[in-house]
Amino acid sequence: MNTPTNVDALALAAHRDDIEITCGGLLIKFADLGYRTGIVDFTAGEMGTRGSAEDRAAEAAAAAHVLGLTHRENLNMPDAKLDNTLANRMAVATVLRRLRPRLVILPHWRQRHPDHRVAGEIAYDACFLAGLKRMDLPGEPHRPRKILYTAFLRFTKNTPRPT
Ligand SMILES: [Zn+2]
Repeated sequence: MNTPTNVDALALAAHRDDIEITCGGLLIKFADLGYRTGIVDFTAGEMGTRGSAEDRAAEAAAAAHVLGLTHRENLNMPDAKLDNTLANRMAVATVLRRLRPRLVILPHWRQRHPDHRVAGEIAYDACFLAGLKRMDLPGEPHRPRKILYTAFLRFTKNTPRPT
């Protein structure tokens, strides 16, 4: 699943399983319709309390098959310590230039887990940087045309709605 290739839709998130939980069904639907889909996991999930990073890697590979992904990769950023740094934005912008998705799916900016919120911020900013012609990044400039947001929020009558 690490063969670099273009994708139509790319989901980006902090942890292996975030995408499966928030929009796995959408990615299956896209794949069924013939679109090329991908996932970029920012961390290996080494801080997770249910299983190891190795367990997560095996599960992510199995999920990639079930989801019908064209591509999946992990950026090995530090789990539970994500920061919206220039280095992280540039790393994600480099991936966006390589994979050239028309649609990206990002975590919504209102999230309980700081990594989820920050991952969305990194990816949003990277979408802009990837399109700058003079940015010192490999590859040709590329900016996704559409952004969708996912959320982990479980809505109840008392849950503030994202604005
Ligand atoms: Zn997560």
